[in-house]
Amino acid sequence: MTVPILDLKRSFSEIKPEVSAALERIFSTQSFILGREVEMFERHCEKYLELPEGSCVGCASGTDALLLALMAIDIKPGDEVITTPFTFFATAGAIARLGGVPVFADADPVSYCIDLKSAMSKITAKTRAILPVHLFGQMSPIEEVMSELHSKGIKVIEDAAQAFGATRRAGDDILRAGCVGDIGCYSFFPTKNLGGCGDGGMVVSADKDTADRLRRLRVHGSGKTYYHDEVGINSRLDAIQAAILGIKLRHLDEWNEERRKAADYYKLLFKSAGLHEFIVLPEEMPGNTHIWHQYVIRVKSRRDELMAYLEDKGLSVRVYYPLSLHLQPCFEYLGYHEGDFPVSEQLTREVLALPIYPGLTENEQEELVNGIKEFFRR
Ligand SMILES: *Cc1c(COP(=O)(O)O)cnc(C)c1O
Repeated sequence: MTVPILDLKRSFSEIKPEVSAALERIFSTQSFILGREVEMFERHCEKYLELPEGSCVGCASGTDALLLALMAIDIKPGDEVITTPFTFFATAGAIARLGGVPVFADADPVSYCIDLKSAMSKITAKTRAILPVHLFGQMSPIEEVMSELHSKGIKVIEDAAQAFGATRRAGDDILRAGCVGDIGCYSFFPTKNLGGCGDGGMVVSADKDTADRLRRLRVHGSGKTYYHDEVGINSRLDAIQAAILGIKLRHLDEWNEERRKAADYYKLLFKSAGLHEFIVLPEEMPGNTHIWHQYVIRVKSRRDELMAYLEDKGLSVRVYYPLSLHLQPCFEYLGYHEGDFPVSEQLTREVLALPIYPGLTENEQEELVNGIKEFFRR
C-alpha cells in the first residue's frame, strides 16, 4: 500500500459539481480579478471569523498578506520585528523585504510555536511588532502578552497561514487564529487547510482604518482608481480562487474535524505500538482546538534513516522544516550562529510530518505507524 503525503482529490470529489457550476458562472461573466466573487468570499470569511463587515481583505498569497500587514504598520528599514526561526521562510522573508530586521526568539519544544517569554525578552527600543506563527494548526497564546505589548506601542501580526479555523479558549472567550492581534494573515495555497486552486491569501483587521488601508495597499495604494495616496503593491485575489474558497469554507469545520479524528487515531496507534522511547507525539496545548494542518512527530534519533525507510515502502512523510531560519544563507547578515536557538535547531533534526488530511483512512494510518514500528523493532 502507498500513502501519499497529501491527496487533495479525496475532498475535492465532495465539491466537484459546485465548483464546476462556479467556474461556469465566472467564465460567463468574464470578470476575473477582485469584484463580486471576492467580495462575497470576504463577507463569508467575516461571518465565519465573527469579524465586523469590511475586516477581510483578499490578496494574492499568504506571503503578500504578511507583506501588506507589515506595510500597513509602516515597517521601515531598521525596524525590528520579533518572530520564530522555526517556520516557513515567508514569515521572516516578508520582514526582510521591507528592510525590517527579523529578530528571532526560540521555539517552544512542545507546541513548536514561538516561546513567548523568550520573545518578550528580545524587545528593544527598535521593536515595532511581534509576528507569532500559529504553527501546524494550533494557536500561540498571544492574548497573554497583548496588553503588555500594546502598552509598549508594539503591534501584533499573526501568521495564521496554517491555522484557518483554529480556536483557543481564554477565560470565557473563544479566540480565533488571525483575529487576536492587530492584523491576521492567511494563506490559501492549495495544500493549506483552506486552499484554493492556485495562489491566494487574506489579510484581516477588525480596525476599520487599518482594513481600509490594507484594501488600498493591495491595489497600488489607490483609494480612487488611478489616484495614488501611497505606493502599494499589486496583490489581488481572483474570482476563481474566491469562488472555490467560498465553497470549501462551508466544508471547513467538517474537514478540520476529520483531521482532529485522524490525530486522535494516530495518538491511539502510537500509544498501543509502545514507541515512546523513540517518538514524541505532538500535543494540543490546553485551551486550544488544534486543526492539524500538519501532524508532526519528533523522532529522537535516526530521523532521516526512518524517513528513507518509510519512503521506500511508499509511505510518504516530510520534514517541516529542515533548516532553522537563523541559519539560512540569506540571513547570514543578521549575525546569528549555530547554537543560538537550540530548540529550533533540535526540532529541525527531529521533526517528521505524517500524512493528515480529509479522506485519509484508518487503514492508511495503521500502515504508517506499523512502518515506524517495524523500523525501530528490526
Ligand atoms: C504557507 C505559509 C506562508 C505563505 O503563504 P503563501 O500563500 O505560500 O505565500 C506563510 N507563513 C506560513 C507559516 C506558511 O505556512
